[in-house]
Amino acid sequence: MRYRIIPVTPFQQNCTLVWCDDSMEGALIDPGGDSQRLLAAVREEGVTLTKILLTHGHLDHVGATGELASSQSLPIEGPHQADRFWIDALPQQAQMFGFPPSQPFQPDRWLEQGDTVSVGKENLQVLHCPGHTPGHVVFYHQPSRWAQVGDVLFKGSIGRTDFPGGDHQTLLDAIRNNLFLLGDDVSFVPGHGPMSTLGEERRSNPFVSGRMG
Ligand SMILES: [Zn+2]
Ligand SMILES: [Zn+2]
Repeated sequence: MRYRIIPVTPFQQNCTLVWCDDSMEGALIDPGGDSQRLLAAVREEGVTLTKILLTHGHLDHVGATGELASSQSLPIEGPHQADRFWIDALPQQAQMFGFPPSQPFQPDRWLEQGDTVSVGKENLQVLHCPGHTPGHVVFYHQPSRWAQVGDVLFKGSIGRTDFPGGDHQTLLDAIRNNLFLLGDDVSFVPGHGPMSTLGEERRSNPFVSGRMG
């Protein structure tokens, strides 16, 4: 499996194009905006898009989903259905963040802990990691020890929990008791900012290493 990170929107959200280098079929994880730039990257890599994957329902992660799903005839998989209220509130989110109105959509498949999503001949495992939003999921590719974790965990920080449905302790539990079990050597793409590894964050991230306060 291969991947390319394409930051989108004024929030520099890390949309990630992942693809199977055997079949050259790929998926966009969290197409938050800038659909023409995303499609240009897809063309550059010679990838055939087959689906859209979503980590959670925040606008900067899903803003171009409706437009791309209808213009490219793509199914939408994820997030967990506990984020339905965020997706239903897309118009209000756009207003709140001063984004242009984005096309509404409904996921074709809600995801749960233990589910698998396919990208060409590759498979990604699904982890349900609530706290930043109640329906947040993480996508994990076991063979390459790689994950897209959205706004659960960042290099040196964790996701905000002050939005509706957020909960700080729930997020800490999801990181420590679910995400970290994947192993220290797993590298991850966060929703914003540079990549890191789970081991580096477990050791040095003040929010989850137990070293704070
Ligand atoms: Zn978010
Ligand atoms: Zn975000």
